[in-house]
Amino acid sequence: MNNQTELFGTMVFSDTVMRQRLPESVYLSLKRTMRGGHKLNPEVAGAVAEAMKNWAIEKGATHYTHWFQPMTGITAEKHEGFIRPTGDGRAILEFFGKELIQGEPDASSFPSGGLRATFEARGYTAWDPNSYAFIKDGILCIPTAFCSYGGEALDKKTPLLRSMEAINRQGMRIMRLFGHEDVERIIINCGPEQEYFLIDAKILDQRRDLMYTGRTLFGAKPPKGQELEDHYYGVIKPRVAAFMKELNQELWKLGISAKTEHNEVAPAQHELAPIFNVVNIAADHNQLTMEIMKKVAQRHGMVCLLHEKPFAGVNGSGKHDNWSLSTDTGINLMEPGDTPAENAQFLIFLCAVIQAVDDYQEMLRISVASAGNDCRLGGNEAPPAIMSVFLGDEITDVLKAIDSDSPVNPKEKTLLRVGVHTLPRFPRDTTDRNRTSPFAFTGNKFEFRSPGAPMSVSGCNIVLNTAVAESLRQYADRLEAAEDFEKELHQLIRDVIRDHKRIIFNGNGYGAEWMAEAERRGLSNLPTTADCVGRYVTEHNVALFERHGVFSRAEMRARCAIMAENYCKVTHIEAVTMLEMADRDILPAVSRFCGELQERTEKRGSRYELDTLATLNKLLDEAYDARCALDKALQEVNGGIDERAACLYRDSVLPAMRWLRAAADTMETKMPSDEWPFPTYGDMLFSVK
Ligand code: ADP
Ligand code: MG
Repeated sequence: MNNQTELFGTMVFSDTVMRQRLPESVYLSLKRTMRGGHKLNPEVAGAVAEAMKNWAIEKGATHYTHWFQPMTGITAEKHEGFIRPTGDGRAILEFFGKELIQGEPDASSFPSGGLRATFEARGYTAWDPNSYAFIKDGILCIPTAFCSYGGEALDKKTPLLRSMEAINRQGMRIMRLFGHEDVERIIINCGPEQEYFLIDAKILDQRRDLMYTGRTLFGAKPPKGQELEDHYYGVIKPRVAAFMKELNQELWKLGISAKTEHNEVAPAQHELAPIFNVVNIAADHNQLTMEIMKKVAQRHGMVCLLHEKPFAGVNGSGKHDNWSLSTDTGINLMEPGDTPAENAQFLIFLCAVIQAVDDYQEMLRISVASAGNDCRLGGNEAPPAIMSVFLGDEITDVLKAIDSDSPVNPKEKTLLRVGVHTLPRFPRDTTDRNRTSPFAFTGNKFEFRSPGAPMSVSGCNIVLNTAVAESLRQYADRLEAAEDFEKELHQLIRDVIRDHKRIIFNGNGYGAEWMAEAERRGLSNLPTTADCVGRYVTEHNVALFERHGVFSRAEMRARCAIMAENYCKVTHIEAVTMLEMADRDILPAVSRFCGELQERTEKRGSRYELDTLATLNKLLDEAYDARCALDKALQEVNGGIDERAACLYRDSVLPAMRWLRAAADTMETKMPSDEWPFPTYGDMLFSVK
């Protein structure tokens, strides 16, 4: 047995543990609940709670918590002890079924986007029995959903579970049409690839921008960045290797199968991918992965940066959302098959995704919007803010042939009829993987590459799932009513290709030509989060989420308000941090050095001294003007957090920040190393030896 199999899942109250520790009737009843439909009865909950408590105490746990994912995108927990005084001076360890099923965190400090006035701060958490309980740092963590007493979702998990139901409902209708009587559920699989940076912990104390905002707000480009691409898949440094080893072990204990790890393109950048899982579990696991990455890095004297763009001029960090649908009988619905029926089914689901991305391109874009991701999307190394689907040449040719009623292969005469013919074989691993596409088909799954590294994968999956459910609903309506199934199927696929081919783009998403081409095609382009705020609660989007029971209009308004608020607050903190760094460190340092140069030029001025003094003096004025403009812009916004404020941040605060940075970064290049108040980009990017 190797280390991984021994450790794997030791801290998880998994199916195996439940089967061992629960009476059979309790276990079977719980399984029924997990499969859906059946409410957990109080006796079963009591028995599960007792077994869970005993297991957790054996593993050294002293407390439990309902572990949930508020709308901030991070996770929250409030620890409760198992211990209860008995009244006679002794204490016992207790944990009841009702405590397992439901908790009441004091929720007033979590954002509700106006759904819950703070005076009625109480929301409740409810166990998601489909996600296993686990022990982390001596705490039994019970994965839960978080709702208000009015029933509104206050978290990211509740709508994710609802969106899974939506796909299941509509997907099952398609399964029945294709005669799959044995299929009971449609499963959504998700494998999030996680990018991150590691820098030496000592750097953090010396850079207030990294400390307060997670990204560098100043810093001139180093002589060596990622130009040589020598870091990508390069040798992993010993300190990083030690970190990865411990990280893997910590993750394995929690049943998270971290699979690959390699260096990324930028210096100090790395990636971790788990083996894919059911989407709600994958989302839980990804939240845990991010948390544990940060903790383990600390233990190794490093800091793990999950910001989308910690360093300007080098690649940012994304989270690639690998996504597919399968059946509970193990069929991957995103995989082309061998028979005409399998292929027809594959084409239906492929079309459902293509149509979903086209119909809800704005909502998908909005699902990945944040101040941090604005620094990355469209940044010439990340996908642009315009949504499009990459299919590769082979599949595009098949769709074209169906669309135009022409043979796939010009040498052959036969026209491809959906449901009658098989598709030509696709090479599974197409080499022309297009890294510039935001949404790529990669053989048997789609890969949505726009989410930012620190984001919860729930956000984008809620949108993707619901949008695909809507395509499937339309197809099921049409096919169920058809007199000639095969004929209707063929026509349906032709119609989808005709109506949605504008979203298919196999070319270079970084090129300026694509911007122009996308505009000609009528695709939406929302470059910043501020642009997204006004496009969130449109009638088109509300109709989608209400129809599938995923969000009410009020819930969408709340989420939109939180997005705007977060954008404003993050940008505000960045602006204030810049002002502080400029006023207290950068401007005084440059002024001091200019003073020295002045003195020296009065005695004896070399051309270096004269020229540098003139240049720095000019830049100092420039930087001062920029900091004053930034100050003024901030006063105009006046702490606003709504759509109007978001637009002001976009139009006046962020440009002033860029102006200030440009002046400061140029000054940095003219200043002596030991007079510059902060570690440089070179110091940071090559800090881990
Ligand atoms: P890549 O070549 O894109 O790096 P990998 O095989 O490494 O592909 O997979 C990347 C991620 O996609 C992993 O987390 C993997 O588990 C996940 N993945 C693989 N197949 C599927 C699938 N059918 N559905 C969802 N995710 C998948
Ligand atoms: Mg990948």
